Amino acid sequence: MFRKELEALKENRLLREIKDRGSAQGARINIKGRVYINFGSNDYLGLASHPHVAAGAKDALEKFGAGAGASRLLAGGTSLSERLESLLADFKEAEKALVFNSGYCMNTGVIPALADEEDAVFSDELNHASIIDGCRLSKAKKYIYRHSDVSHLRELLRGTKARKKIIVTDAVFSMDGDIAPIEEICGLCASGSGDMLLYMDDAHGTGVLGKGRGTLRHFGIKPEPWIIQMGTMSKAMGSFGAFAAGDGDSIGWLLNSARSLIFSTALPPSAVGASIAALEVIWKDDKGLVDKLWDNRDKLMNELAGLGLDTGRSETPIIPLIMKDVESTAGLSDYLYKEGIYAPAIRPPAVRTPRVRLTVTAAHTEEEIGILARALHAWREKTL
Ligand SMILES: *Cc1c(COP(=O)(O)O)cnc(C)c1O
Repeated sequence: MFRKELEALKENRLLREIKDRGSAQGARINIKGRVYINFGSNDYLGLASHPHVAAGAKDALEKFGAGAGASRLLAGGTSLSERLESLLADFKEAEKALVFNSGYCMNTGVIPALADEEDAVFSDELNHASIIDGCRLSKAKKYIYRHSDVSHLRELLRGTKARKKIIVTDAVFSMDGDIAPIEEICGLCASGSGDMLLYMDDAHGTGVLGKGRGTLRHFGIKPEPWIIQMGTMSKAMGSFGAFAAGDGDSIGWLLNSARSLIFSTALPPSAVGASIAALEVIWKDDKGLVDKLWDNRDKLMNELAGLGLDTGRSETPIIPLIMKDVESTAGLSDYLYKEGIYAPAIRPPAVRTPRVRLTVTAAHTEEEIGILARALHAWREKTL
């Protein structure tokens, strides 16, 4: 039934394939017996294989076992879940936090919970797929505003009669690495008549921006009752799961209405234990991991500057190399792979313009960044 579709994908170089590792996540990974320098992970601080984080998982596993056995509302959580939420709330300077099973689960569960028939959702056109799906699941009226275009957003807000107006945006855009105009959006919310709420997806800001505290801290914005900060534990925290941080009422409402929380088994204790340990590492950051991440980002950007490659709007460790077509994107990714560098090609429908998406982390050495730069130089020479 699907063979023709698969053949068409293959023909157009759009066939996706899984690459599994034979090693831990990190700056160097083993795929099918060969070691690659990895510029494809969101493990920004190298915490996925950090000894303290692994020990957090191990201790939790030993004390509480492998599986949660039930949803959070049916005693599937443990005292670790409670501790993690209290730490997350402090970390985000919010009243309360609530853990979800993944960023995807969270966005698809929370957006419909925040907005129903009488409400309206305003979503940036480049928001993450999980936000798009969450909007689709919501019965609210949907408005898509042009990317980071606050005047367009303002215009749409003005023309709308709705009980609640929920603005939803990636704080850091996952495919372009640019930062949303959170200050201006907060300005809009603050000047409104109390019917607006900002739901901010900080999957790529948590552990990265604001000395690790995230995008609000980056802008020096204090949390407000009308801001819900969403974050994931699957990226810079090197673990798994997601969380909402906000005021007591919003979090209480999510606990009572988000279907992905109510109807899904809670996270395994090991993931919760790992997240607690990761938060401890980021909080203290006595090794300067966040600074190292940004140093590495600067180093790589400097190397790329001399190459005449289009890195788009990148402002963060997500650095796209925007290409003219799928063929050249796949060509570059394949070339790097042969050179021992993993840098995935991102193609439609995941993005409109195909790109090789580089992510640099605190775990990369100067030498590894140099190897990537030299390989890109060699590829330029070859393709010019
Ligand atoms: C990765 C990502 C998610 C999904 O998070 P998972 O924990 O991987 O499910 C949600 N939003 C954004 C912006 C992301 O980049």
